[in-house]
Amino acid sequence: MLSPDVLQKLTSIVGPERCKTSREDLLTYSYDAYVHEVIPEAVLFPKSTPEVKEIMKVASAQNVFVTPRGAGSGLGAGSLAKQGGIVLCFTMMNRILEINTANRYAVVEPGVVISEFQKVVESQSLFFPPDPGSATVATMGGAVAMNAGGMRGVKYGVTRDYILGLEAVLPSGEVMETGTVTAKDVTGYDFTRLLCGSEGTLAVVTKIIVRLLPKPKTKRTLQAIYDRIDDAGDTVAKIISSGIIPATLELMDKTVIKALEDFAHLGLPLDAEAVLLMDVDGDPETVERLAVTVGEFCRSHGARDVRVSRSEKENDQLWTARRSAFGAVARMRPTCVVEDATVPVSLLPSAIKKVIEIGERNRVQIAVLAHAGDGNLHPLVLCDQRDREEMVRVERAMDEIVDYALSVGGTLSGEHGIGIAKARYLPRQLSETSLRMMRAVKKSFDPQGILNPGSFLEHRS
Ligand SMILES: Cc1cc2nc3c(=O)[nH]c(=O)nc-3n(C[C@H](O)[C@H](O)[C@H](O)COP(=O)(O)OP(=O)(O)OC[C@H]3O[C@@H](n4cnc5c(N)ncnc54)[C@H](O)[C@@H]3O)c2cc1C
Repeated sequence: MLSPDVLQKLTSIVGPERCKTSREDLLTYSYDAYVHEVIPEAVLFPKSTPEVKEIMKVASAQNVFVTPRGAGSGLGAGSLAKQGGIVLCFTMMNRILEINTANRYAVVEPGVVISEFQKVVESQSLFFPPDPGSATVATMGGAVAMNAGGMRGVKYGVTRDYILGLEAVLPSGEVMETGTVTAKDVTGYDFTRLLCGSEGTLAVVTKIIVRLLPKPKTKRTLQAIYDRIDDAGDTVAKIISSGIIPATLELMDKTVIKALEDFAHLGLPLDAEAVLLMDVDGDPETVERLAVTVGEFCRSHGARDVRVSRSEKENDQLWTARRSAFGAVARMRPTCVVEDATVPVSLLPSAIKKVIEIGERNRVQIAVLAHAGDGNLHPLVLCDQRDREEMVRVERAMDEIVDYALSVGGTLSGEHGIGIAKARYLPRQLSETSLRMMRAVKKSFDPQGILNPGSFLEHRS
């Protein structure tokens, strides 16, 4: 419990305007995109590294729990104050500090919204590829902390592949710098990669050096329509093994198609069992050639129709629809649980079958969405968390999906992270030795255990 004295000390660092304590304000920060509610004791909005430093010094001196937060779009309760204390919210520390076109990097504060950053760099013919479905709200700090992936992962990889260095404040209040602005750097342990994906449990990220690419000159979006979802899954595996590398390769099943059509009225085919949505990008000649090759490939693997978008506007409409898929499906039932198990891409066709079979056997409605080119399934489990009997079946189905993914060499989470949502599964994938080493790393960064307590390493449900 925060004493009035400690709260006063914290408030004096940021000023009363940037320290929220009313119940109404706190409720706003008691949720993320996971089904869970925890009301913090205060929410602070720092605007600079010295402020974060001071906050962490007070917190460590007074043993106050601190949970960093960006936009709160995470899917595992990572940004919730699970054991009380304060939330450190970065939405006001949101400046783009530098865009260096000569050396193709940028320096940003953690609260910069991903899509805003993308627009700014693209206006200078540069490109930041990570593109999570939540990019219009999620922050760069959240993307680093979660090592966010997204639709372009199949060609371009994930956030970690674009982070050259970080400035981070340790729980003690000391500032640590990792990496450099150079394209290569092998000086010492790679703390940059360690902090990427550490889910806000090791240090608070206050500055990010971002590697940028030249912006692809052009792109085309293709929609391949399938009467059989098996054929769509098969096409994905075959495209990847053939050596064609689309920029995106997304799969939506008939439940997702219907939900999107009800929501956005885009003319998606309601009688189809699956749609593949693909981008090819690069210079105009390559893109034209690739669009033809991918289209032919889809047709020869069972697509009944392939549509190529004719304009930027049409590209944007299709991707806006895809971004809305989670929200559109979530409207169908009171609760929507998002799974994120990932399998080697060659096994995607059998993984899709397995997910459908698991859903049917457990009488659980599952809509299948996937960053398919990465083997990254996003089964959306539609349910009602107030119905205990249904939730038992949901848990069983999720358990079976996780066990299946692990049994074929896959992973618990391709990109959403562990949080408290998947903490109980960790020992199924990681050995006791790996877990012990992770706890040792956590202890060396945060000996008092004040940063994001109750997160994935400690949480047991
Ligand atoms: C509709 C929807 C679609 C999504 N699509 C994708 C997708 O395609 N790919 C994907 O990877 N994810 C996706 N996500 C998950 C989520 O949006 C991403 O993980 C995103 O990167 C989280 O950013 P955020 O700013 O919302 O972070 P938050 O949710 O606020 O925080 C996430 C974690 O990061 C930590 N954190 C935040 N800021 C900092 C900081 N400055 N320093 C240290 N730790 C910090 C928090 O403590 C927390 O543990 C999706 C979520 C939704 C709701």
